Amino acid sequence: MSDHSPILVWFRNDLRLDDHPALHAAAKSKRPVIPVYLWSPEAEAPWPRGGASRWWLHHALVDLGKTLSDRGSKLVLRMGTDPFKLLRDLLEETGAGEIHWNRRYDSAGVKTDTALKKNLPAKSFRGSVLREPHEIETQNGEYYKVYTPFYKNVISRGDPREPLDAPDGWMHPDSFPKSEVMDDWNLLPKIGWDKAFYDEWTPTLAGAEAQMEAFLESAAGDYKDERDFPAKPGTSRISPYLHFGQISPRRLWHDAKAAAASGDAGGKGVDAWLRQLVWRDFAIHLLFHQPQLDLEPMQEKFSAFPWENNPDHLQAWQRGQTGYPIVDAGMRELWTTGWMHNRVRMIVASFLVKDLRIHWHEGAKWFWDTLVDADLANNSFGWQWAAGCGADAAPYFRIFNPMLQSKKFDGEGAYIRKWVPELKGLSPKDIHAPWEMDAPPEAYPEPIVDHALARDEALEALSSLKD
Ligand SMILES: Cc1cc2nc3c(=O)[nH]c(=O)nc-3n(C[C@H](O)[C@H](O)[C@H](O)COP(=O)(O)OP(=O)(O)OC[C@H]3O[C@@H](n4cnc5c(N)ncnc54)[C@H](O)[C@@H]3O)c2cc1C
Repeated sequence: MSDHSPILVWFRNDLRLDDHPALHAAAKSKRPVIPVYLWSPEAEAPWPRGGASRWWLHHALVDLGKTLSDRGSKLVLRMGTDPFKLLRDLLEETGAGEIHWNRRYDSAGVKTDTALKKNLPAKSFRGSVLREPHEIETQNGEYYKVYTPFYKNVISRGDPREPLDAPDGWMHPDSFPKSEVMDDWNLLPKIGWDKAFYDEWTPTLAGAEAQMEAFLESAAGDYKDERDFPAKPGTSRISPYLHFGQISPRRLWHDAKAAAASGDAGGKGVDAWLRQLVWRDFAIHLLFHQPQLDLEPMQEKFSAFPWENNPDHLQAWQRGQTGYPIVDAGMRELWTTGWMHNRVRMIVASFLVKDLRIHWHEGAKWFWDTLVDADLANNSFGWQWAAGCGADAAPYFRIFNPMLQSKKFDGEGAYIRKWVPELKGLSPKDIHAPWEMDAPPEAYPEPIVDHALARDEALEALSSLKD
């Protein structure tokens, strides 16, 4: 006898309709589909979403809700500490016979999924990666700790499969269960800190498509040469859409390849961009195999590193008041827009962990709260990379010189001028190190540390570790 009971489709970091294997399978079953989103910050401990991420989530859910209503469906919202209980209640209320979801690979996600699968009728699918973390392994059957061989393995498998189109339609239940009201979840900040986010971002499905289209049309071809210059629109800025799953990595992969094939975007630029997209899979691969990547250094000796506890320095860094223009520009861009250019993320991270010798955990926490693309795999991986304690990381002894980085990647100072208005009138010669001027602008702080001294101290701290 065929089963006509509804299927709950549990949306998580996959807030879209196309290339959504869990929804696709439910639609194909011809059984009624009930889309659900659960808000359970406690289940995400120790990483409940930060402020900027909540802002994005609010708008992404409103948009997904509208998209589903346009198709005669409804996004059912439920809040509670325990996803297991919320889903069990929904199964009981609706008489649903099955739950579908796309898999997550972080420890909180894996823990929840495993418990649910043991106890509830569930099917999980691959939705958020090019290749699943356990698909890619070394010849010895181990996971990869170095990027290049990982990348070669991914590439040797050819293109990931084509993305699935959004289902044309699906069955609806006679009635939907009660939904909570989005506004009651209070995801939006109360202090008006998000004002500029509205000018900067369109956190919707249409926004994701427009963002990618614009990148493929205008910047992808030059990505290889332009991606390191923060004043230029050289990168895709697709990261928050990818994190929330408003666009799938497989869709991005195939769209980028198609743009290269049609001549709309240069092949070299697209290849370089796809290589970057595979870094995301690498970070997920590492987090899956090293679930403590968010808290424990991959190189164990770093557990004994003599980090400094200096709240004043940490605050200066957070507020973009270190006296180093490129660092301050980055931190202010982050605060204002919820995003920061990758090159500048590397510079500010190096400054925190090497010039200030403040624990990378503090940087990861701040990014977690302020980035709209905050992502446990990429953020943990990025911070371990910067701190020199991660897999395939920049060695700790290789210390970025903020002035040289600034001159190399923001030579004219356009990026600094945009985010540090106190330095607006300075020439390209002065803007990277204003303290060297005869009369530096009074409104801008003096450097909080001397880079040359800080560098020596960092190297000394490293050598104490070796001893
Ligand atoms: C200290 C630090 C923290 C970071 N925290 C995050 C984070 O929380 N969330 C996040 O998405 N990225 C993080 N990154 C990685 C990277 O900075 C961003 O993915 C990138 O800046 C996003 O901009 P984009 O979409 O224009 O990237 P593009 O250059 O257009 O790249 C396309 C996509 O590839 C992926 N990608 C690119 N570079 C990397 C990388 N180095 N590592 C992993 N994936 C990459 C991203 O998904 C990105 O959206 C961090 C990097 C550092 C150094």
